[in-house]
Amino acid sequence: MKKTFGLASAFILAAGLAAGCSSTGASGDQKDNGKLDIYTTIYPLEDFTKKIGGEYVNVKSVYPPNVEAHTYEPSSKTMAEISEADAFIYSGVGVEGFADKAVNTLKGSDVKIVKAGEGIDLLSQEEEHEEHGHEEESAHEEHDHAHDHGEAEEHDHDHGDKDPHVWLDPVLAEKLAENIKDELVKLEPEHKKTFTKNYESLKKDLKQLDQDFKQTVDRADKKEILVSHAAYGYWEKRYGIKQMSVLGLSPTEEPSQKELENIVKTAKEHNIKYVIFESNVSSKISEIIKNEIGAESLTMKNLESISKEDKESGKDYLTIMKENLSVLKKALSN
Ligand SMILES: [Zn+2]
Ligand SMILES: [Zn+2]
Repeated sequence: MKKTFGLASAFILAAGLAAGCSSTGASGDQKDNGKLDIYTTIYPLEDFTKKIGGEYVNVKSVYPPNVEAHTYEPSSKTMAEISEADAFIYSGVGVEGFADKAVNTLKGSDVKIVKAGEGIDLLSQEEEHEEHGHEEESAHEEHDHAHDHGEAEEHDHDHGDKDPHVWLDPVLAEKLAENIKDELVKLEPEHKKTFTKNYESLKKDLKQLDQDFKQTVDRADKKEILVSHAAYGYWEKRYGIKQMSVLGLSPTEEPSQKELENIVKTAKEHNIKYVIFESNVSSKISEIIKNEIGAESLTMKNLESISKEDKESGKDYLTIMKENLSVLKKALSN
C-alpha cells in the first residue's frame, strides 16, 4: 500500500513538474487549480484552515458529518486521496483513532503531514483528579468523576490516559490555529500577509469566546455538570467547572455498576437537573441515569465533526461554541 502511494505520488509529482506547476495535485480531476488541497480531521481544524487559508485553500474533512472521532476509520479510497493532497492536518493529540496507522502509510507519499496539536500540553485524567483534591478522600468523594478509587479492581480504564479534547478550550484552540497558520505560511510564503491577517481575526474571536466562558462560569449558580462523554475536561482546568461523566474520554469506555451508583449518588448530591448528551454519541446508560435522577436532557456539540444541518446553515466553530456556552449556562443554573 505504502509503495503504491509512493509510486502514484511520484508520478503525479513528475507530471506536475513537467507542467511547471507547484502543486503536486495539479493533474488530479477533482483538484481546484492553484489552491492548496488540504485534508483535515476534527471539525475545528477544517474550520480554522478554511478561515486562515481563505481563497488559497481547498479544504476537505476526512470525517463524514456527525461522526464520533475516536473510532472512525477512513476508507482506503479516502486514504489514497489524502496521499495526493498538499497537506494532511490532524490534531495528533490522540482523538483520531486511525491517525498513527494513517501517518505511517502517508509517510510514503508527498503529502505534508501537519500535527496541529504540536506544543500543547495534554491533561491526563490523573491531573484532572488532582485539580479536585485527589489527595483527600473526602474531597474526592465530593467531586467524584464517576469512578471509584477505593479498590484497585474498580479501575478498568487506564488512568494515565491523556484528554485529547483540546479544541473545546478556546485558548488551546488558538494554539491549533497558530500552528495551522504557520504551516500554511510554509506551504505558500507568498500569501503570508493574508494568512496572518486571517489568523489574527480568528484569534480575536477566540479571545472573546474565552472571556464569555469565563464570565458565564463565574456567574453560575453551581459548577457541576453531568455529561455523557468526558469531552469537557479542559473547561475544568480553564474555567473551574466540575465534569461528571458517564462514559470515558473515549465514548467506548463504559462505567461499572459501582461507578454507575456513584454517578447517581453524586448527581443527586449536586442537585443535577440536566444530563448533557452529544449529537454524535448515543448512550443508553446515560439515558438510564437521566431517568434515575429525574433530570432533563440537553445537547452539547463536541465538535469532533459537524452535522450536515449545521454545515448547511453556515454554522462554524465559533457559533457552535456559543451554542455550547448557552447549554452550559443552563446546565449550571439552579
Ligand atoms: Zn478519580
Ligand atoms: Zn471525544
